[in-house]
Amino acid sequence: MPEDCIFCRIVAGEISCSKVYQNDQILAFLDINPVSQGHCLVMPKQHFNRFDQCPAELAAELARHMGKIARAVVSAVEAEGYNILNNNGRCSGQLVEHLHFHIIPRRTGDGVFDRWPAGEYPAGFMEKLALKIKNLIKSS
Ligand code: 5GP
Ligand code: ZN
Repeated sequence: MPEDCIFCRIVAGEISCSKVYQNDQILAFLDINPVSQGHCLVMPKQHFNRFDQCPAELAAELARHMGKIARAVVSAVEAEGYNILNNNGRCSGQLVEHLHFHIIPRRTGDGVFDRWPAGEYPAGFMEKLALKIKNLIKSS
């Protein structure tokens, strides 16, 4: 376990958290600085920095529980919906370098994620980019 990882320290019980679910592989707890009430984090107990480093079986285990955790959170705070968010890398907003998923309860007009900087591709660019990605996936 990386000594300086705050989430590994939570898993080890060195730092307390408000747990909502755990099994031998995953842990879910309330975010200490919630974007909305009920904002929680779901993560593997084992340390991985990014999603793409997490073994598929463990990712499946996370996915197996994410829906029921989200449903319980939304019901507990009487929200209307939720976002599942996973930041990878500092540039994306990842502050804690231990893979985790945010479950953020949402309500109409709550103003969360109001800015979504949607753009456009120049003509022909999208097809070329899709092909490049497709070939990289094939060779990986
Ligand atoms: P990130 O920006 O890495 O995707 O999200 C990290 C999240 O972890 C933040 O929303 C932050 O509030 C939360 N967080 C950081 N330290 C602690 C902590 O010690 N306890 C809890 N419960 N949440 C934490
Ligand atoms: Zn860690």
